[in-house]
Amino acid sequence: MNGSGIIRGLLIPLKHFFGTYLDDLKWLGKKYYNSEGIACRSSAEQRGIFSVQYPEEKLPVPEEFRFIPFLIYDEAADGTRNIRCTACGICSKVCPPQCIWIERKTDPESGKPISQPAQYVIDIDLCMNCGFCAEFCPFDAIRMDHDYELANTSREENNIWNLQRLLKPASYYAEIRPKNFAQEEAERAEKAAAKAAKIAVS
Ligand code: SF4
Ligand code: SF4
Repeated sequence: MNGSGIIRGLLIPLKHFFGTYLDDLKWLGKKYYNSEGIACRSSAEQRGIFSVQYPEEKLPVPEEFRFIPFLIYDEAADGTRNIRCTACGICSKVCPPQCIWIERKTDPESGKPISQPAQYVIDIDLCMNCGFCAEFCPFDAIRMDHDYELANTSREENNIWNLQRLLKPASYYAEIRPKNFAQEEAERAEKAAAKAAKIAVS
């Protein structure tokens, strides 16, 4: 029938309009500033139009949410930080806006390069949050962070992140991306076991 598509289209906003008031009645105004309400508004069960009282309220981001990358270090039993990055430069090569700069360490005696970064810098104003650096890193050394509250008033002082600013422990990565972390750890353990078995045979 002519015009039926338009009517069906108009019914959708109408459904959301009434859904908003039905939802308000169901919650009797107790949907805000509590974890139950936040969980509902983050789920597919949410009906109608809703607000988030940011910054007092924040909806949790999904595991695959990407913002600025960070570099991972593993904590040894004696508290030493073992930085995973080997300064191979792959992330810097694949970065579309070319916002990563890496300086490799050199052996003070021989002057030969060492597989560690002396400095690692990201201009976070240029970063487009694409995640290529994390995807291409062969050492699971760089991953995308969830922290999006980075507003400040000085680009020069605050938006050029160096190695110290970018480093975060593996435990932080496990906290924000538990599924990814578990999968990568299982793969690493499998590779290590295969390598050990190969050495034992030879
Ligand atoms: S973060 Fe990964 S890809 Fe980038 S330099 Fe370090 S090891 Fe290489
Ligand atoms: S997320 Fe994309 S733009 Fe940002 S540093 Fe990584 S590769 Fe570059």
